[in-house]
Formats: sequence, C-alpha cells, structure tokens
Amino acid sequence: PQPNPQAGAAVKAADRAHVFHSWSAQELIDPLAVAGAEGSYFWDYEGKRYLDFSSGLVYTNIGYQHPKVVAAIQEQAARMTTFAPAFAVEARSEAARLIAERTPGDLDKIFFTNGGADAVEHALRMARLHTGRPKVLSAYRSYHGGTQQAVNVTGDPRRWASDSGTAGVVHFWAPFLYRSRFYAETEEQECARALEHLETTIAFEGPGTIAAIVLETIPGTAGIMMPPAGYLAGVREICDKHGIVFVLDEVMAGFGRTGTWFAAGLYDVVPDLMTFAKGVNSGYVPLGGVAISAEIAATFAERPYPGGLTYSGHPLACAAAVATINVMAEEGVVEHAARLGAEVVEPALRELAERHPSVGEVRGTGMFWALELVKDRETREPLVPYNATGQAAAPMSAFAASAKAHGLWPFVNMNRTHVVPPCNITEAELKEGLAALDTALSVADEYTR
Ligand code: PLP
Repeated sequence: PQPNPQAGAAVKAADRAHVFHSWSAQELIDPLAVAGAEGSYFWDYEGKRYLDFSSGLVYTNIGYQHPKVVAAIQEQAARMTTFAPAFAVEARSEAARLIAERTPGDLDKIFFTNGGADAVEHALRMARLHTGRPKVLSAYRSYHGGTQQAVNVTGDPRRWASDSGTAGVVHFWAPFLYRSRFYAETEEQECARALEHLETTIAFEGPGTIAAIVLETIPGTAGIMMPPAGYLAGVREICDKHGIVFVLDEVMAGFGRTGTWFAAGLYDVVPDLMTFAKGVNSGYVPLGGVAISAEIAATFAERPYPGGLTYSGHPLACAAAVATINVMAEEGVVEHAARLGAEVVEPALRELAERHPSVGEVRGTGMFWALELVKDRETREPLVPYNATGQAAAPMSAFAASAKAHGLWPFVNMNRTHVVPPCNITEAELKEGLAALDTALSVADEYTR
C-alpha cells in the first residue's frame, strides 16, 4: 500500500463532519480511515497494514476483494443491476437454489431481506402469523439485530435504550457453563437445568401464547457459547410439544464460520425458520434472508404473506451470493475453516491460555473462537465489568491498542476478544495473528490479580 496521508485526512474530515456512526457517541469516536483491503488484510492511508481477525463485523468469510466475486458483481452490474422483487430473475433464483441446497431439512423456500435484523423481523412475523400467537421467547446473552423487534429479542445491553415495553418478548437463560445461572458443574447438568428452566418459563408464560423461540445456534457477539450436546435437540422437542416455531439465527454462525455450512448441522437439529446474512455473500453487497420450512411455507400458499421489501432478492446482492457460495464450494473454504480451526487455532489458543493468566476460558469451533478475559481465574471476575464504558473498559482498550500496534485488528466485546478471521485465511497469516495476540494478551495480564 502506498501512503497518502493527505487523501486520508480528507476522508476523515468528511466522515467527522457528516457521517453519523452506529452505536456510538459521535464526538467520542476516532474512526480509522481505510484506504484498501485484500484477502485477510486492510490498510490505512499511512500505509499501515492490519491483519483482520474480526472479518469486518464477522462477515467477510472469504476475505476482502475475492477476484471471482468482484468479477461476478461487475458482470451482474453490466447485465442487470437491479430488478423489482415480484419478477423471477436468474441471480435471485440461483442464489435461492444454492442456499436451499445447503440449509438443513426441508428449509427449501428463501425469503430475501437486506440484512440480518430484517431477516429476524420477518422470521418472527411469519411465526406469529403461522401460530396466531403473540409472544416470542429469546435468550439473554444474544444479539439479533438493531431494528425494533430484532433489538427487543436481543439479550444484551444494546436492547435497553430501545426496549418498547418488551413488545411480547420474554427472555430466558440459555446454557453457559462457565458463567452458569443454574449452579451446574458439568455440561450435562447445565443442559438439563437450562431445558428445565425453559420448560418452566413456557409453563408460566402460557404455552398457547408463545409463537416462537429464537436462538442463535451458537451465540456470536454475546460470547461464542457452544451449546452443550442435547440442548438444541431438547429445545426442538419442547417446541414440537407446544406447537412453538423454532427459529435459529445463523446470521453470524452460518456460511462456513463454524467449519460447516450452517452450525445447525453440528448439532443435527432442523429449525422451522433459519435466518442468515453476512457470510451468504461475505457482505460484498447487503443481503440476508429467512429459510422457511415446508409447513410454514404452506401457511402462505393460498394466503398472502403480508410483508416485503423493495430490494428483496436484489440481483447484485444475489449474484454476489451465487459467486461466494460457488467459490466456497470450489475452494473448500468450509473444510479449510474446520481443519485450521481444529489443527491450528484451538491448540494455539489453549497454549496461550496456559501462559496468560488473563485468559479465563477458550471456546469455539472452526473460525469462530472466543477468549474470555478475567481479572482472576479462580473467581472468574471479568477483566472489565459487564457493559463497561470509559475508564472501566481501559484494560480491554489497552489490549486492543497493543494488538493494533502489532498489526492485528482484533474483535473486542466487553471482556472478550474473539478470533474470527476470514474462513479462508492461510495458516501463515493465522500464525502471524496469533503471535500478535500473544503480545497483546501480555498487556491484559497486567490487569490481573
Ligand atoms: N443476528 C445475529 C446473530 C447477528 O450477529 C447480527 C449482526 O451482528 C444480526 C442478527 C443483525 O444483522 P444485521 O446487522 O445485518 O442487521
């Protein structure tokens, strides 16, 4: 990358004057001006290069600027940039076919949205219309999107400011042994008690009032908590028993992230509705959607589905999805993520955990890993308090600053750092990033007791 600080200064000045950023106090942020990106790296206008261990917002599953996907977008733009959703269009038909081929069970109809949050909105609307019931159950420690309904089912502090009297949403605790709400000591206990807690929640809410249970197959931003064996199958059974629609949100976990096409495949569970976005086309053009079971699709066979979007199945976004899915299949990206996850990332992170007292737990699979950072391994006190801001968040900011100084762009949320690089990252790149992570963890160690 050629340095061009003047151009960078202009980009930054216009940003600071006019761009209103997500989730931010506008005067307290200092966005990095990015000059370019390729593969697993991006660089700034000073010519400083970063290895992206965050995949953007965990969505560039095939890295930046994959030449085949860029070419497919260019070809589609030359041929048919856009077309209204009521028509049958080649890129849209083909994207739906390729996705339906990979979704579990009979989730064979695809409703396209612009991203993840509106996919969740539509999945929950479908569930309410299908069952005629008003309520939705969702988990604490979850994220489902920033629009009104999606943020209300979210189980993290981003919900609080937009909580519209919960809008028919009831939260429950999903399993998470490291910070068990159930005084469990083993995964089996955690699983059994979490299922019992869900059953009790349903009994007290009234099973006949509950349209859907929505869960991330593996919660992402909230901490990559792998559900214990049997949990999702148990939720499936509970849903069947009470006629509740089971929605799995695979916006972050889907499309290769976990070393399988969909994380539901790891647990052999088939939901009634499954949401996706991000990795479907590596976020090159905004796209999301809902994969719909035969039974729910049948509800809208003779009765119109009362919902839609101007850009549902946008040809440019769908062409990017077709190219991305084909590239992932041809290049074995999903298998690559599974292999490097097991052979390189997991052993390296476990080894880091042995040497760094700040690492409380390592968990994950594929290219989807979390390090839970703590002040004290015995008490498991988080390195920063839940939802810490300002000075209270300093240990994590210091950790992130060190990583960046060593050319690694980390994913940081509360007291965790996630190792979520592109699924096609090379082994050499991974090792380079893990070495920088090692150095940055030494900074986190300084805040332990
Ligand atoms: N669901 C999950 C599991 C997510 O991780 C996200 C985004 O991070 C969303 C939904 C929302 O997606 P979007 O930001 O595309 O609206």
